[in-house]
Amino acid sequence: MTSEIVRMVRVATDSGPRWGAVEDGRVYRLAGDPFGAWEPAESIGSLGALSLLAPTVPTKIVCVGLNYAAHADESSAEVPSEPLLFFKPPSALIGPDATINLPSQSERVDYEAEMAVVIGRPCRNVRPEEAWEYVLGVTCGNDVTARDLQRLDDQWTRAKGFDTFCPLGPWLVMGLSEDDVADRGITCRVNGEVRQAARTSDMVFSPSELIAYTSSIMTLEPGDVLMTGTPEGVGPLASGDMVEVQVEDVGTLRNPVRSA
Ligand code: ZN
Repeated sequence: MTSEIVRMVRVATDSGPRWGAVEDGRVYRLAGDPFGAWEPAESIGSLGALSLLAPTVPTKIVCVGLNYAAHADESSAEVPSEPLLFFKPPSALIGPDATINLPSQSERVDYEAEMAVVIGRPCRNVRPEEAWEYVLGVTCGNDVTARDLQRLDDQWTRAKGFDTFCPLGPWLVMGLSEDDVADRGITCRVNGEVRQAARTSDMVFSPSELIAYTSSIMTLEPGDVLMTGTPEGVGPLASGDMVEVQVEDVGTLRNPVRSA
Protein backbone atom coordinates (compact mmCIF):
# COMPACT_ATOMS: atom_id res chain seq x y z
CA MET A 1 0.00 0.00 0.00
CA THR A 2 1.00 3.56 -0.53
CA SER A 3 -0.19 6.82 0.95
CA GLU A 4 0.31 8.58 -2.36
CA ILE A 5 -2.79 9.36 -4.38
CA VAL A 6 -3.08 6.77 -7.15
CA ARG A 7 -5.74 6.29 -9.80
CA MET A 8 -6.32 2.55 -10.24
CA VAL A 9 -8.20 1.13 -13.22
CA ARG A 10 -9.38 -2.30 -14.33
CA VAL A 11 -8.81 -2.77 -18.02
CA ALA A 12 -10.23 -5.29 -20.48
CA THR A 13 -7.33 -7.00 -22.30
CA ASP A 14 -7.05 -9.95 -24.68
CA SER A 15 -5.96 -12.08 -21.72
CA GLY A 16 -8.79 -10.91 -19.45
CA PRO A 17 -9.28 -8.07 -16.96
CA ARG A 18 -6.11 -6.51 -15.55
CA TRP A 19 -5.45 -3.94 -12.85
CA GLY A 20 -3.49 -0.89 -13.90
CA ALA A 21 -2.17 2.30 -12.36
CA VAL A 22 -2.67 5.56 -14.25
CA GLU A 23 0.22 7.96 -14.58
CA ASP A 24 0.53 10.88 -17.02
CA GLY A 25 -2.24 9.52 -19.22
CA ARG A 26 -0.76 6.02 -19.50
CA VAL A 27 -1.82 2.82 -17.77
CA TYR A 28 0.82 0.59 -16.20
CA ARG A 29 0.02 -3.05 -15.44
CA LEU A 30 0.20 -3.83 -11.74
CA ALA A 31 2.65 -6.38 -10.49
CA GLY A 32 0.58 -7.56 -7.54
CA ASP A 33 -2.89 -6.22 -6.83
CA PRO A 34 -4.24 -3.10 -5.14
CA PHE A 35 -5.38 -5.05 -2.05
CA GLY A 36 -1.84 -6.02 -1.17
CA ALA A 37 1.69 -5.19 -2.23
CA TRP A 38 1.99 -3.90 -5.79
CA GLU A 39 4.14 -1.88 -8.07
CA PRO A 40 3.63 -0.54 -11.58
CA ALA A 41 5.12 -2.74 -14.32
CA GLU A 42 5.12 -2.19 -18.11
CA SER A 43 2.79 0.25 -19.87
CA ILE A 44 -0.28 -1.35 -21.42
CA GLY A 45 -1.41 1.69 -23.36
CA SER A 46 -2.76 5.18 -23.15
CA LEU A 47 -5.74 5.71 -20.87
CA GLY A 48 -7.96 7.01 -23.66
CA ALA A 49 -7.34 3.98 -25.88
CA LEU A 50 -8.19 1.31 -23.30
CA SER A 51 -11.54 -0.17 -22.38
CA LEU A 52 -12.11 0.42 -18.67
CA LEU A 53 -14.16 -1.92 -16.48
CA ALA A 54 -15.83 -1.22 -13.15
CA PRO A 55 -12.84 -0.73 -10.81
CA THR A 56 -13.65 -3.54 -8.38
CA VAL A 57 -15.10 -7.07 -8.23
CA PRO A 58 -17.33 -7.03 -5.16
CA THR A 59 -19.06 -9.84 -3.27
CA LYS A 60 -21.79 -7.29 -2.52
CA ILE A 61 -22.84 -3.72 -3.19
CA VAL A 62 -24.31 -2.11 -0.08
CA CYS A 63 -26.40 1.01 -0.65
CA VAL A 64 -27.93 3.51 1.71
CA GLY A 65 -31.27 5.19 1.13
CA LEU A 66 -32.17 8.77 2.08
CA ASN A 67 -28.68 9.79 3.24
CA TYR A 68 -29.12 13.43 2.15
CA ALA A 69 -31.86 15.37 3.97
CA ALA A 70 -32.96 17.33 0.88
CA HIS A 71 -33.38 14.07 -1.08
CA ALA A 72 -35.45 12.56 1.77
CA ASP A 73 -37.57 15.72 1.51
CA GLU A 74 -38.14 15.41 -2.24
CA SER A 75 -39.02 11.75 -1.69
CA SER A 76 -41.62 12.76 0.96
CA ALA A 77 -39.70 10.64 3.47
CA GLU A 78 -38.28 11.30 6.92
CA VAL A 79 -34.51 11.20 7.39
CA PRO A 80 -33.97 7.75 8.96
CA SER A 81 -32.62 7.60 12.53
CA GLU A 82 -30.34 4.74 11.45
CA PRO A 83 -28.90 4.11 7.96
CA LEU A 84 -31.45 2.48 5.63
CA LEU A 85 -29.49 -0.28 3.87
CA PHE A 86 -30.28 -2.24 0.74
CA PHE A 87 -28.30 -4.23 -1.83
CA LYS A 88 -27.63 -4.08 -5.51
CA PRO A 89 -26.41 -7.38 -7.02
CA PRO A 90 -22.85 -7.48 -8.41
CA SER A 91 -24.46 -8.53 -11.74
CA ALA A 92 -25.75 -4.94 -12.06
CA LEU A 93 -22.20 -3.55 -12.33
CA ILE A 94 -20.96 -1.88 -15.49
CA GLY A 95 -17.90 0.26 -16.12
CA PRO A 96 -17.44 3.72 -17.58
CA ASP A 97 -18.86 4.22 -21.11
CA ALA A 98 -20.91 1.02 -20.89
CA THR A 99 -24.59 1.34 -21.73
CA ILE A 100 -27.37 1.55 -19.15
CA ASN A 101 -30.27 -0.52 -20.49
CA LEU A 102 -33.78 0.72 -19.76
CA PRO A 103 -35.83 -2.42 -19.02
CA SER A 104 -39.25 -2.86 -20.62
CA GLN A 105 -40.81 -3.52 -17.18
CA SER A 106 -40.31 0.12 -16.08
CA GLU A 107 -41.60 3.43 -17.40
CA ARG A 108 -39.48 5.56 -15.08
CA VAL A 109 -35.77 4.88 -14.61
CA ASP A 110 -33.85 7.50 -12.59
CA TYR A 111 -30.18 8.40 -12.19
CA GLU A 112 -28.76 8.75 -8.66
CA ALA A 113 -25.27 10.28 -8.45
CA GLU A 114 -23.34 8.85 -5.50
CA MET A 115 -19.86 8.70 -4.06
CA ALA A 116 -18.85 5.04 -3.79
CA VAL A 117 -16.33 3.63 -1.32
CA VAL A 118 -14.50 0.35 -1.98
CA ILE A 119 -13.38 -1.78 0.97
CA GLY A 120 -9.75 -2.94 1.09
CA ARG A 121 -9.67 -5.63 3.78
CA PRO A 122 -12.11 -7.72 5.79
CA CYS A 123 -14.07 -5.46 8.05
CA ARG A 124 -16.31 -6.59 10.91
CA ASN A 125 -17.56 -4.61 13.91
CA VAL A 126 -15.29 -1.63 13.38
CA ARG A 127 -15.75 1.70 15.13
CA PRO A 128 -16.38 4.85 13.05
CA GLU A 129 -13.02 6.27 14.18
CA GLU A 130 -11.14 3.32 12.64
CA ALA A 131 -13.46 2.60 9.68
CA TRP A 132 -11.51 4.59 7.06
CA GLU A 133 -8.47 2.34 7.62
CA TYR A 134 -10.48 -0.40 5.86
CA VAL A 135 -11.12 1.67 2.74
CA LEU A 136 -9.15 0.90 -0.43
CA GLY A 137 -10.40 3.83 -2.45
CA VAL A 138 -13.18 6.06 -3.66
CA THR A 139 -14.98 6.22 -7.01
CA CYS A 140 -18.17 7.52 -8.65
CA GLY A 141 -21.35 5.47 -8.75
CA ASN A 142 -24.79 5.74 -10.28
CA ASP A 143 -27.53 3.98 -8.30
CA VAL A 144 -29.84 3.60 -11.29
CA THR A 145 -33.38 2.97 -10.04
CA ALA A 146 -36.68 1.94 -11.62
CA ARG A 147 -38.65 4.47 -9.59
CA ASP A 148 -42.10 3.20 -10.53
CA LEU A 149 -41.19 -0.34 -9.45
CA GLN A 150 -39.55 0.97 -6.26
CA ARG A 151 -42.88 2.61 -5.34
CA LEU A 152 -44.76 -0.66 -5.96
CA ASP A 153 -42.44 -2.89 -3.92
CA ASP A 154 -41.64 -2.93 -0.19
CA GLN A 155 -38.26 -4.51 -1.00
CA TRP A 156 -36.27 -2.76 -3.72
CA THR A 157 -34.45 -5.77 -5.17
CA ARG A 158 -36.28 -5.46 -8.49
CA ALA A 159 -36.16 -1.66 -8.77
CA LYS A 160 -32.44 -1.47 -7.97
CA GLY A 161 -31.23 -4.78 -9.36
CA PHE A 162 -31.58 -4.81 -13.15
CA ASP A 163 -28.45 -5.60 -15.18
CA THR A 164 -26.51 -2.38 -15.93
CA PHE A 165 -28.12 -0.51 -12.99
CA CYS A 166 -24.79 0.03 -11.20
CA PRO A 167 -22.31 2.03 -13.28
CA LEU A 168 -19.07 2.48 -11.33
CA GLY A 169 -15.80 4.24 -12.16
CA PRO A 170 -13.96 5.47 -14.05
CA TRP A 171 -11.19 4.54 -11.59
CA LEU A 172 -10.53 3.98 -7.95
CA VAL A 173 -8.73 6.87 -6.29
CA MET A 174 -6.49 5.44 -3.57
CA GLY A 175 -4.71 7.37 -0.86
CA LEU A 176 -7.46 9.90 -0.06
CA SER A 177 -8.07 10.55 3.61
CA GLU A 178 -11.51 10.74 5.14
CA ASP A 179 -11.08 14.52 5.38
CA ASP A 180 -10.17 14.66 1.67
CA VAL A 181 -13.65 13.40 0.72
CA ALA A 182 -15.68 14.98 3.54
CA ASP A 183 -16.68 18.09 1.59
CA ARG A 184 -16.47 17.43 -2.16
CA GLY A 185 -18.88 18.48 -4.88
CA ILE A 186 -21.11 15.75 -6.26
CA THR A 187 -22.82 16.44 -9.57
CA CYS A 188 -25.06 14.64 -12.03
CA ARG A 189 -25.43 15.88 -15.60
CA VAL A 190 -27.73 14.54 -18.27
CA ASN A 191 -26.77 15.56 -21.81
CA GLY A 192 -24.52 18.20 -20.26
CA GLU A 193 -27.26 19.77 -18.12
CA VAL A 194 -26.75 19.79 -14.34
CA ARG A 195 -29.50 17.81 -12.56
CA GLN A 196 -27.92 17.21 -9.15
CA ALA A 197 -25.34 19.42 -7.44
CA ALA A 198 -24.54 18.96 -3.75
CA ARG A 199 -21.65 18.42 -1.35
CA THR A 200 -20.64 15.20 0.34
CA SER A 201 -20.73 17.21 3.59
CA ASP A 202 -24.55 17.16 3.21
CA MET A 203 -24.62 13.42 4.00
CA VAL A 204 -26.66 12.47 7.07
CA PHE A 205 -24.29 9.60 7.96
CA SER A 206 -20.63 9.94 6.98
CA PRO A 207 -18.89 7.17 5.02
CA SER A 208 -17.12 6.04 8.22
CA GLU A 209 -20.39 5.90 10.13
CA LEU A 210 -21.92 3.87 7.29
CA ILE A 211 -19.00 1.42 7.21
CA ALA A 212 -19.12 0.99 10.99
CA TYR A 213 -22.89 0.48 10.98
CA THR A 214 -22.81 -1.99 8.07
CA SER A 215 -19.91 -3.90 9.63
CA SER A 216 -21.97 -4.42 12.79
CA ILE A 217 -24.36 -6.48 10.62
CA MET A 218 -22.21 -8.19 7.97
CA THR A 219 -18.54 -8.69 7.21
CA LEU A 220 -17.41 -6.34 4.47
CA GLU A 221 -14.97 -8.14 2.17
CA PRO A 222 -12.14 -6.73 0.03
CA GLY A 223 -13.66 -5.23 -3.09
CA ASP A 224 -17.12 -4.68 -1.61
CA VAL A 225 -18.79 -1.41 -2.53
CA LEU A 226 -20.59 1.00 -0.26
CA MET A 227 -22.78 3.49 -2.14
CA THR A 228 -23.20 6.49 0.15
CA GLY A 229 -26.57 7.79 -1.06
CA THR A 230 -27.78 10.39 -3.50
CA PRO A 231 -28.53 14.09 -3.05
CA GLU A 232 -31.68 15.89 -4.19
CA GLY A 233 -32.57 16.33 -7.85
CA VAL A 234 -33.15 12.72 -8.93
CA GLY A 235 -34.99 12.43 -12.23
CA PRO A 236 -35.64 10.24 -15.24
CA LEU A 237 -33.37 8.94 -17.98
CA ALA A 238 -34.46 8.42 -21.58
CA SER A 239 -33.07 6.35 -24.42
CA GLY A 240 -30.30 8.32 -26.12
CA ASP A 241 -29.26 10.23 -22.98
CA MET A 242 -25.68 10.52 -21.76
CA VAL A 243 -25.51 10.59 -17.96
CA GLU A 244 -22.46 11.76 -16.01
CA VAL A 245 -21.68 11.45 -12.31
CA GLN A 246 -18.84 13.64 -11.11
CA VAL A 247 -17.25 13.60 -7.68
CA GLU A 248 -14.85 16.48 -7.23
CA ASP A 249 -11.20 15.37 -7.09
CA VAL A 250 -12.26 11.78 -7.88
CA GLY A 251 -13.44 11.73 -11.49
CA THR A 252 -16.33 11.66 -13.93
CA LEU A 253 -18.31 8.53 -14.79
CA ARG A 254 -20.11 8.68 -18.16
CA ASN A 255 -22.67 6.22 -19.45
CA PRO A 256 -24.99 6.25 -22.45
CA VAL A 257 -28.61 5.15 -21.98
CA ARG A 258 -30.58 2.91 -24.36
CA SER A 259 -33.89 1.07 -24.33
CA ALA A 260 -33.20 -2.62 -23.74
ZN1 ZN B 1 -29.13 5.59 -4.08
